Amino acid sequence: MTSHLLPTYARADLAFERGEGAWLTATDGERYLDFASGVAVNVLGHAHPKLVAALTEQAQKVWHVSNLFRIPEAERLAERLCQNSFADKVFFANSGAEAMECAIKTARKFHAVNGHPERFRIITFEGAFHGRTLATLAAGGQKKYLEGFGPVAEGFDQLPFGDIELVRKAIDENTAAILIEPVQGEGGVRVVAPQFLKALRQICDEHGLLLVLDEVQTGIGRTGELFGYQRSGITPDVMALAKALGGGFPVGACLATAEAAKGMTAGTHGSTFGGNPLAMAVGNAVLDVVLGDGFLDNVRKTSILFRQRLAELKDRYPSVIAEVRGEGLLIGLKVVVPQGDLVSELRAQKLLTVAAGDNVVRLLPPLIAGETEVTEAIGMIDRACARLAQAQPPLKKDAVA
Ligand SMILES: *Cc1c(COP(=O)(O)O)cnc(C)c1O
Repeated sequence: MTSHLLPTYARADLAFERGEGAWLTATDGERYLDFASGVAVNVLGHAHPKLVAALTEQAQKVWHVSNLFRIPEAERLAERLCQNSFADKVFFANSGAEAMECAIKTARKFHAVNGHPERFRIITFEGAFHGRTLATLAAGGQKKYLEGFGPVAEGFDQLPFGDIELVRKAIDENTAAILIEPVQGEGGVRVVAPQFLKALRQICDEHGLLLVLDEVQTGIGRTGELFGYQRSGITPDVMALAKALGGGFPVGACLATAEAAKGMTAGTHGSTFGGNPLAMAVGNAVLDVVLGDGFLDNVRKTSILFRQRLAELKDRYPSVIAEVRGEGLLIGLKVVVPQGDLVSELRAQKLLTVAAGDNVVRLLPPLIAGETEVTEAIGMIDRACARLAQAQPPLKKDAVA
């Protein structure tokens, strides 16, 4: 198959024609249960009637006007995001990386306008993923993504995951902020302990640093709370959102307290498309549903059920699944076999999932999923594990005991 697309992705030879709820129909007519959700994007599944209506209604009015004018739908979405979070101010962008760029700039500018332009360095953590622009790649610090792209953007100090003493030691007169994902998504569904987030908050307060959360993957209900930080009892100063915010329409957002955002005045930042009427109409419709009565309760309920059933499979197939981890419906299976083998086998069973770092397979059901979808998925995972277990050498007796 030849394609004129730049081959930066190792794509599966599979294309989809339409979707409905948690299901996708491929061009060959086969149906797939979509627990990839476009990598945590399609929170409301496919072709959700409310999102379809919001987009088509807006499409008949006005698509784009630029931020040289007021955009009422953007003002409304910003207000709702602030009412439901720690934030006072929102900047809309088109992607996670762009939301993160704004977060990084906001943190640096805060210190600059406080008279400390030398405070621009940001502490990050191993296994992080913050996007593919030059600055966000530097923040993520993954060698395989940085190689061959010239000098790495200055200003990021990466530390091992989860060691609070090393964080204390790493702070100096140039430190501006600490940046972390409440659950590392691409890094392998590694959950940051609430105690660790609390300790980071305290360190930030002691040293006048900003706490910046990358909630591009965890935000908008994925963890069972509207935002991942809400289960830790702390609030950040700055937060990036994207993926789920548009339910499949490209949109990102950088949220900040009024204090943290005080340097971001007219002319300091911008985006041609950011917060355009189409994206904002869909974003508001996503919030209508996610903030609706019982929606997040259902996410938590579905999560508990799914994780119980997955734990049973882990016990049945120790030669395939080593660990079930995550928060809400951001679930990772740390596997014994190469994670790509399980992703392929699951696809053969018509279940779509996403590989992650640390040999993990990510299960990202749309947040509208319930018992029916979980039961279907468990059957598929069971069959995939049975096939892979059969292909495995038997475990030693003492390992099974
Ligand atoms: C996906 C992701 C990004 C990058 O988002 P893009 O929309 O691909 O730019 C950044 N941070 C986290 C945590 C992500 O999961």
